[in-house]
Amino acid sequence: MARSTFQTLPGTRDILEPDASHLRGLVTLFADLAAGAGFGQIIPPMFEDTEVFTRLGEASDVVSKELYSFEDKGGRNIALRPEFTASVCRAFAQYRPTTPWKTWYAGPNFRYDKPQKGRYRQFDQVGIEVIGSHDPQLDVEVIALAQRFFDDLGLAVELRINSLGDIAERPAYLQDLNSYFEQNRDSLSEAARATLSVNPLRLLDAKRPGDAAIAAGAPTILDSLSNEAAAAFAEVRNGLDTLKIDYTIDPLLVRGLDYYNRTTFEFAAPGLEAAQNAVGGGGRYDGLVEALGGPPEPGVGFAIGVDRTLLACEAAGVLPSSGNTIDVWVVDATGSADVGLLVVEELRRSGLKADRSYDGRSMKAQMKNANRSGAAVAVIVGEDEMSSGTVSVRSMADGTQEQVQRGQMLAAVRSGLAQGRETKDGEDRT
Ligand code: AMP
Repeated sequence: MARSTFQTLPGTRDILEPDASHLRGLVTLFADLAAGAGFGQIIPPMFEDTEVFTRLGEASDVVSKELYSFEDKGGRNIALRPEFTASVCRAFAQYRPTTPWKTWYAGPNFRYDKPQKGRYRQFDQVGIEVIGSHDPQLDVEVIALAQRFFDDLGLAVELRINSLGDIAERPAYLQDLNSYFEQNRDSLSEAARATLSVNPLRLLDAKRPGDAAIAAGAPTILDSLSNEAAAAFAEVRNGLDTLKIDYTIDPLLVRGLDYYNRTTFEFAAPGLEAAQNAVGGGGRYDGLVEALGGPPEPGVGFAIGVDRTLLACEAAGVLPSSGNTIDVWVVDATGSADVGLLVVEELRRSGLKADRSYDGRSMKAQMKNANRSGAAVAVIVGEDEMSSGTVSVRSMADGTQEQVQRGQMLAAVRSGLAQGRETKDGEDRT
């Protein structure tokens, strides 16, 4: 039977006001910060050849379990992007821009994840990537930009950092790790044993308490870093100290994607539930561009989860006001088709936020609309005003009203708005 109503699919939602304004504000703030640090925007397509993402590593959940992949009508295997980094590296390999290539991005990603609060199948990220430099100072700058973003939002976050060493050191470490977990195999959960056979590194951030307890005793990669990787990590820590950015070193921080080497980091918002409190993270991925068919250029970057950051801001009570309030409401009691149109258009062209009622509603109903809109001023055009070429400008706060010549409307509205603001400031102070 055909369905007559529809709802959003699991893990997706409509973002309505005021959330939509908050989201936009957050992206704008991020864009300004990134542009102020020399980053240019990249808007990659939302779907790519599936292989662009499988090169991230088959052991990542994002690739093995959560990819939205399908065959298109042309027989191509394509996938909705689960993250931006792979697309940015693919773009670098495609265009070979001069290095260091600094880009920022914002937009939705898709992961077939188990939906819950703070975990969606379509979610937004903002982030940056820098391709073409090994300099550990860049790692510091990248982390500092994320920290500045959270600071500007007024959101308290906790930063954890780690070094995963170089890919060349990885096999020896993986062997150590594997034998440690094999020794403890009987105490591991079924799921952990499955992970062990794919990638023992992923077991380090196991969430089940029993597995986590075993992971806590595992050999750490920090003890087996090469001299170069150890020196780079020391430089990153020094840089963060210089900038007075607080952090803790967490040798268990491996993050979900396999391609990271050297610096990794994650920001958590303590106000959110532990399982979903990561608001952003990133690190170095020095082999990824090459894995995507590009030159062997290193990369570093991060992605911040926008939906979760907004949840954290809400929990912390630091959401910015949406700034969407209407300034002025137009009440047209003449029923004349043109008056409402002309007055509203003039107000909007002058830069004021103006709205009106429709369908020839009664004066009373229009005044109700005006009240509900939060507008500080109403412009009223009745028969009387029509015949005398005037309008009435009414303060919604105290109901005072003055009739002015149509040519004086903008000045009168502006002065009404200014008075409204003064009154409000006065009230806020008392
Ligand atoms: P990742 O790309 O996995 O490193 O994720 C970076 C950030 O994106 C995380 O810290 C989260 O804030 C956010 N994120 C990742 N997956 C989801 C999801 N399924 N729903 C909402 N936010 C997510």
